[in-house]
Amino acid sequence: MTEAIIKLVYLAAAICFIIGLKRLSHPAKARSGNAIAATGMLVAIATTLFNNEILSFQYIIIGMIAGAAIGLTFAKMVKMTSMPEMVALLNGFGGAASALVAGAEYLRYMALNEVPTPDIAVTMQLSILIGSVTFSGSIIAWGKLQEVITGTAVTYPLQKTLNALLFTALIVLIVMLSIQFPNTNLLIAFVVLALILGVLSVIPIGGADMPVVIALLNSYSGLAAAMTGFVINNHGLIIAGALVGASGIILTAIMCKAMNRSLGNVLFGAFGAGAETGSSVIVAGQAIEQPIKQITADDAAMLMAYGKQVVIVPGYGLAVAQAQHEVRELAELLEKKGVTVKYAVHPVAGRMPGHMNVLLAEANVPYDELYDMDDINPEFEQTDGSLVSGANDVVNPAARSNTASPLYGMPILDVDKSRACIVMKRSMRPGFAGVDNELFFATATSMLFGDAKDSLKNLISEVKEL
Ligand code: NAP
Repeated sequence: MTEAIIKLVYLAAAICFIIGLKRLSHPAKARSGNAIAATGMLVAIATTLFNNEILSFQYIIIGMIAGAAIGLTFAKMVKMTSMPEMVALLNGFGGAASALVAGAEYLRYMALNEVPTPDIAVTMQLSILIGSVTFSGSIIAWGKLQEVITGTAVTYPLQKTLNALLFTALIVLIVMLSIQFPNTNLLIAFVVLALILGVLSVIPIGGADMPVVIALLNSYSGLAAAMTGFVINNHGLIIAGALVGASGIILTAIMCKAMNRSLGNVLFGAFGAGAETGSSVIVAGQAIEQPIKQITADDAAMLMAYGKQVVIVPGYGLAVAQAQHEVRELAELLEKKGVTVKYAVHPVAGRMPGHMNVLLAEANVPYDELYDMDDINPEFEQTDGSLVSGANDVVNPAARSNTASPLYGMPILDVDKSRACIVMKRSMRPGFAGVDNELFFATATSMLFGDAKDSLKNLISEVKEL
């Protein structure tokens, strides 16, 4: 293949990535966006492998089939609620792959008895550093989400100082490795310290913040790939890495904004080190023991079926219960009775951005019934019944009023402003942030306890009888 054709193929792949990313921003186009980006990646990989004659044709095909089979199996097996764990692992593998390619380049220079130019040497070390940090950090993030290790923020004295010293040592090693070539002992020490930095950077972050950390590590894995692209002079890798790096950091910023937290607070704030939970709720600085009001499925069905507008608020619990089909069925029944049904989707409802959109799309909920927080909030005052289904933190009014709450400042769905609010959950346990929710004690709120799927099935049969 001529150089010009290869460059054109990489350009076409890059266009596929950009179109794919653009389409991912809308639920209706996300699937095709994914397919377009994946096709671009397939073309780029095949071109690289065939062109460079890295391996024989048979090995390439065997590798592609094996990789695709493993990816497909994982994608089919993993539950929607475990997607962050899978993304954490994939980020880690991406970082490790970049570090390994850069390491292999180091060894290749050694074998050829050549000394890399300073720019290549520094880029190689940066790729190894970022790739190794991404790998070990992602494994810790996975372990925290999978509860293999504690999800609590692990803190100890002088933690930030130690991390800063470690980081400084790694920068010094980059300079030394670039000057003294080759030095395999120094290289091994460099990799070990980089892996330790990845572990130490993620353990002080609570499990609650892992999705943000994963988005950030995703960005790191892109940076590592782009660096490796410079090392092996592969334009496709540079473009793909830069796109992943940029989109990962944008996603991180969106998540931080939706939780009203700075990235510094997420990374160094040890959120979740000792979250307080209890049966009482703090209102205006005072702990108040309040009774809650329970509702039965038949009363809840009447409340909704005889209203003009019902807003359904899906949350993480709906995904756990896999009750998306039931929620759509209930909505359709209510609509047949003349009720206007809308879904209110909070940007960080669930465990990753877009979690609720994907969940509801799986049940064929029409996209035009999904409302963003800013669009639906002014409507709650005219809403007869809000049905909070497995959501908690994203409807906690403490985020608006309680300056002492860890949720303070996070924009929320104003369900407490609706005429009546039904909260479906299994117990009085708190949500992800580990804090009590004063919505449950509000006079307009009624609790419908039970698994979301069971409660929705009960509601469906009650509405059918009306
Ligand atoms: P949440 O605050 O975690 O609350 C989920 C609720 O669902 C829990 O209170 C739980 O109560 C209930 N639940 C669990 N399983 C259930 C089942 N089978 N049936 C019925 N209810 C069930 O969820 P959220 O309101 O969606 O808020 C998301 C949280 O994740 C926020 O704190 C957000 O900051 C955080 N977060 C999200 C992202 C993201 O990108 N989406 C990223 C980072 C952090 P019971 O145990 O009593 O049933």
